[in-house]
Amino acid sequence: MKAKAAVLVGDNNIEIRELDVPVDPPPGGAILAVEGCGMCGSDIKQYHGGTARAGIMSYPVIPGHETVGRIAKIDVEGVRRWGLKEGDRVAVHGIAPCGTCSGCMADSKCIDSFYYGFRSLHERSGLWGGFAQYMEIVPRTKLYPVSDSLSIEDALLFNPLAAGYDWLLAHGELQVGETVLILGSGQRGLACVVAAVEAGASQIIVTGLRSDAFKLDIARQLGATVTMIAEDEDIPGRIAELTNGRGVDLVCDTTPYVFEPVLDAIKAVRNKGRIVLSGLKDSRLMDGFPLDTLMMKQIRMIGVLASGHWATQQAIRVIESGRLPLGLMHTHSLPIDLLERGIKTLAGEIPGERALHVSILAQA
Ligand SMILES: [Zn+2]
Ligand SMILES: [Zn+2]
Repeated sequence: MKAKAAVLVGDNNIEIRELDVPVDPPPGGAILAVEGCGMCGSDIKQYHGGTARAGIMSYPVIPGHETVGRIAKIDVEGVRRWGLKEGDRVAVHGIAPCGTCSGCMADSKCIDSFYYGFRSLHERSGLWGGFAQYMEIVPRTKLYPVSDSLSIEDALLFNPLAAGYDWLLAHGELQVGETVLILGSGQRGLACVVAAVEAGASQIIVTGLRSDAFKLDIARQLGATVTMIAEDEDIPGRIAELTNGRGVDLVCDTTPYVFEPVLDAIKAVRNKGRIVLSGLKDSRLMDGFPLDTLMMKQIRMIGVLASGHWATQQAIRVIESGRLPLGLMHTHSLPIDLLERGIKTLAGEIPGERALHVSILAQA
């Protein structure tokens, strides 16, 4: 059996290839018939060569780490441990820590994590990424059953939506009735809106750029109470008005690269409030950080990365509930052959395309 796969062979260079699907799954593992795979900023960075330059992976590799598919083959040990069988539909957690290394034992970073979408093509079949028709699954992987009734596009929202639950609820400890400011209206900013709605926040305020106006429309339809254009408004000033001078209980900065939102967050949060930082700033150092304000206001700042098991379960639950119009987040579906166009679409590099969530469909 053959699988069509998009292989990243170098910076900005994807080749579509036919690869052999192994007869047997890896010991204790499974083989997934991929239905589709979502994408995020990591895919853009990987495509442009940033991940290879950082030494995290080397070419060639099949990218794609936000995968949903059906179990095509499963080892008898996999049946026993996962409680799954051939034909079952699952979402795949893209990061599989080993659970036993010195890092895992210290509740720190696994030194031997298995990252789907970043493994060498030269390892076994090479089918370790979601932008292919089949993917091998190693035994340590977390697999989440997904309802057969969902569209693949809705199912693929499991990954971005999980971030909202992880960042606002698990780390930000958002409580019912609290006020929250979400800086940035990309797929993860909107995921934070969903989590805030579900947690019962009293005010959900979202910022975006002028070019993000359509995303702010979606934010309001999902339940944001106020949206603001960052270039046009004094964000801390508006927050003061909206909260009678008190400030919001929780801020989440999802904006990549820029520092201004971090300064806005410090001004907009209430005394003893919390700020969750999830927008990486490309390793740049920040001048003029108001350190004393942090202490004077007794602010708690929390850095977050990726999302965990509980958050992934919550994301799948809210998608399956059908309670929110989550399909609004989905903007593009493309076949594997057009992965390059999909990445450029998400990156905003294709004039006229307005992307929020892009799905690559394996069987299309
Ligand atoms: Zn991702
Ligand atoms: Zn480990």
